[in-house]
Amino acid sequence: MGLLEETKFIMKKYNLYANKSLGQNFLINDEVVSNIVSVADLSENDLVIEIGPGLGTLTKYLLDTKAKVICIELDKRMINILNDRFSLYDNFNIINEDVLKVDLKSLIKQNKETGISKVKIVANLPYYITTPIIMKLLEEKLDIDSITVMVQKEVAERLTTIPGKKETGSITYAIYYYCEPKLLFDVPNTSFIPEPEVTSSVINLKILKVPRVKVNDEKLLFKIIKAAFMQKRKTLVNALVNNKIFNSKTDCEKCLNDLNIDTKVRGEKLTLEDFAKISDYLK
Ligand code: SAM
Repeated sequence: MGLLEETKFIMKKYNLYANKSLGQNFLINDEVVSNIVSVADLSENDLVIEIGPGLGTLTKYLLDTKAKVICIELDKRMINILNDRFSLYDNFNIINEDVLKVDLKSLIKQNKETGISKVKIVANLPYYITTPIIMKLLEEKLDIDSITVMVQKEVAERLTTIPGKKETGSITYAIYYYCEPKLLFDVPNTSFIPEPEVTSSVINLKILKVPRVKVNDEKLLFKIIKAAFMQKRKTLVNALVNNKIFNSKTDCEKCLNDLNIDTKVRGEKLTLEDFAKISDYLK
């Protein structure tokens, strides 16, 4: 049975419809699924955390690599299906919870103590919470090796570009700070049921051993970046003064002049290193 028939069969058997509000678009293209698993580069000693396994299409391929798989799925309806399908696999584990509420740090720590070598995140993400999930994975400073995920194509571009070069958001800087990002391949909407309205892309974020730039105060760095992007259309000076990073325009302009940064520039033109210099100037 091909993946399309298998997916339809499972949905019929369990009388299940896709819940749009949970971002449910199920993969039906086996080439795409194998490519995701191959990029994730899994081995028997790895732990894979799969976010949103759904009906288990990607899960099945992950289990076949013999890596330990922990699935985190919010939709209770999927839990029965996944247990029915995979209870015979001794590398299958499932947590029925909102991934944003799971204490991933403890989960990873416990697993590392049992001899797991690397922890890798693999997922076809629910698109409505792509950013909070990725920010959680990075900001909690989890002991993970890489994140291989499918996201909306235009989001993938924003996540993997070099900040300061193209259309960016504050998340672009966070990713570039913590990871080596790669945009891998596009996936047409015909690879899912139901078909999403957008094209998707698979990205790989390899976590750097040490962040890309050294700053005195990491929290301040990201506070400044967020402030600059809160008012993207304004100049950097206005955004940083309005968001209380600097007390006055004069102070902000002096800082930028001292650092050789154009005072008329918008935040999105700045490199990660520029923001780091502003941060260290203040602290
Ligand atoms: N992995 C499956 C596949 O590729 O066919 C399904 C992917 S579907 C795009 C996203 C999955 O994430 C759904 O199964 C959905 O129920 C689940 N999900 C949505 N919000 C979630 C959350 N906050 N925590 C965990 N899982 C979530």
